Amino acid sequence: MKNLVLFGPPGAGKGTQATFLKDTYNLIHISTGDVFRFNIKNETDLGVLAKSFMDKGELVPDQVTIDMLSAEVAKNLDSNGFIFDGFPRNTLQADALSVLLKAHQTEVSAMIALEVDDEVLVQRLLKRGETSGRPDDANQAVVRNRIKIYYGETAILKSYYSDLNKYYGVDGVGSVEDITVRLNTVINTL
Ligand code: AMP
Repeated sequence: MKNLVLFGPPGAGKGTQATFLKDTYNLIHISTGDVFRFNIKNETDLGVLAKSFMDKGELVPDQVTIDMLSAEVAKNLDSNGFIFDGFPRNTLQADALSVLLKAHQTEVSAMIALEVDDEVLVQRLLKRGETSGRPDDANQAVVRNRIKIYYGETAILKSYYSDLNKYYGVDGVGSVEDITVRLNTVINTL
C-alpha cells in the first residue's frame, strides 16, 4: 500500500491536490474535515459534537477523530492505499496512525507538505469563505485561530516525519497544475 499524509496549513490546497492525486495513484482520499462536515450536514451525534469545535476553529477531540479515521480506513482495506488529508494534526494522532496502519501490516509511506506563506493563506481562506459555505472560512478570527493551532500543535509533525526520513516539502504557491506536477515528482520517487 502507498499511504500518503498530505500536509500543510489550512488553505494550503491539500483538498484540491488530493482530488488529482487519488485518481492518478488510485488511492482512497480521507479528509477528516470532509467527514466531519458530512456528519454535520446529516445532523449525526458526531456532527453535533464536531461542529461545536469546528465553529471556533478548534480541533475536535483526538479520540473522537482517531475512532472516526480508523472506521474510514477499515472500510477500504482492499485499496492501493490512502491519502490522509487533515490527519494527523498532532503527535498523538500521528502515533495513533502508525499503530493503526501497523495493525493492517502497512505504514505511512511519506508526508508531503504544501508550503505556503501565512498571509497568502489568510487571503485564500477568506476568499474560499465567500463561496465554500464553510463558516470556519468566512470569519477572519476563526481563520487566524486555525492557523495558530496549526503552528502550535500540528507543525511539529514536520520534525516527527523528518526523523523517520519521510518528510517531503513542496512549494505550495503557484498554479494548481504546477503544484500537481511538483507533487507527482515527489511521489514518483517513493
Ligand atoms: P479541514 O477541513 O482539514 O480544514 O478541517 C476543518 C476543521 O475540522 C478543523 O478546524 C477541525 O475543527 C476539524 N478537524 C479536521 N481534521 C481534524 C483532526 N485530524 N483532528 C481534530 N480536528 C480536526
